[in-house]
Amino acid sequence: MIVLVLNTGSSSVKYQVINPEIKQALAKGIVERIGMSGAILTHKPTGRDEVRLSGEILDHKMAIEYVLSILLSKNHGVIKNKKEIDAVGHRVVHGGEAFSDSVLIDEKVMSEIRRCIDYAPLHNPPNLKGINAAQQLLPNVPQVGVFDTAFHQTMPKYAYLYGLPYVLYKRHGIRRYGFHGTSHRFVSDRAVVLDGRPKDKLKIITCHLGNGSSAAAIKYGESIDTSMGFTPLEGLLMGTRSGDMDPAIILQIMHKEDLTPNEATTMLNKHSGIQGVSGISSDMREIEEEYESSDRAKLAHDIFTYRLKKYIGSYAAAMGGVDIIVFTGGIGENSSLVRKNALAGLEFIGMELDQEKNNIRSKEERSIQSKNSKVKCFVIPTNEELVIAMDTMRIVQTQPKKNKSGFHI
Ligand code: AMP
Repeated sequence: MIVLVLNTGSSSVKYQVINPEIKQALAKGIVERIGMSGAILTHKPTGRDEVRLSGEILDHKMAIEYVLSILLSKNHGVIKNKKEIDAVGHRVVHGGEAFSDSVLIDEKVMSEIRRCIDYAPLHNPPNLKGINAAQQLLPNVPQVGVFDTAFHQTMPKYAYLYGLPYVLYKRHGIRRYGFHGTSHRFVSDRAVVLDGRPKDKLKIITCHLGNGSSAAAIKYGESIDTSMGFTPLEGLLMGTRSGDMDPAIILQIMHKEDLTPNEATTMLNKHSGIQGVSGISSDMREIEEEYESSDRAKLAHDIFTYRLKKYIGSYAAAMGGVDIIVFTGGIGENSSLVRKNALAGLEFIGMELDQEKNNIRSKEERSIQSKNSKVKCFVIPTNEELVIAMDTMRIVQTQPKKNKSGFHI
């Protein structure tokens, strides 16, 4: 089976062509600067050289058309005919309370995704554009939606409700939804395999640390809490997002700095976090380069790891213990300093790192706890596209088959 995985952003389309039966990508790439001058397509067929093409790409439909043409091209292609694409899997950021699993997209699903635009105004509209374009360009090919929020739908009500008037939950859906669900699900499933014990015996804390970061408490295979909330702004310190803060600060700053709601949103999402504290960069590599020489870089790093440590401690408390801590994402997979500092002092819950193993640079899944550690610690590269392709295959294969006249058989 061949699945085209699409992750459509406001001005970009990321794609992968994956055979989920053998868990292998045939090609991946990205179209950037859609609707701007000098759009670029970067395409990498597996095992062959990367190609970069530029041109004018006015909208998402043109972008996906461009992707299809390179997938079919003589020199850089990986398929001979569009008909080889059996299904399309779409990353959809917000599925609200409607979706606790991936789903075959039909009109009802589309209108539910549309309804969730209020919750994710920057993400769901381009996701919908991607789905519409793929439906037009690949008619009769099943399209599956895989939601960032779905995995966290198992959270109990006391974990997802805020201390606000209950009517706001009922009227406007104000609650914790959580994000990065595809990644938390993938790495926790891999952790269960690496560990060897049954899933329904394990308490796992997964830390997805990248430009956006979140932690999740996964008890017996289900997410019971996660650090991102109503939007991806809550929780850990992030590249440019503030994470947790006293909500009164926002009102105070809006008043003192004379900010509109839009300006305040931009400040919290684009100018805060590691970038805002350090004044240097949102990029953890650059922060670590300056860690010894710049007080503000060290401060940003320290806030990041201190906050992560607090989440790990609180999730261990929430689950009544922890068996495995997992690190993933660009920072989680690559920064030994973040892992070391975040886990320092957690010996009291049974977590002890092997510093040598922690310092090894590798792209492979690995365990980095000491011999005596009661808690295991895994570094697991995430693969959200593979999850989307696997889910797409599962959903498509479990649909009732139709005969030629279109009736279910
Ligand atoms: P992601 O959003 O998952 O792609 O992660 C991006 C983040 O990972 C950026 O902050 C990068 O600086 C960070 N990152 C990537 N490689 C390293 C590394 N070797 N050491 C520290 N941070 C890294």
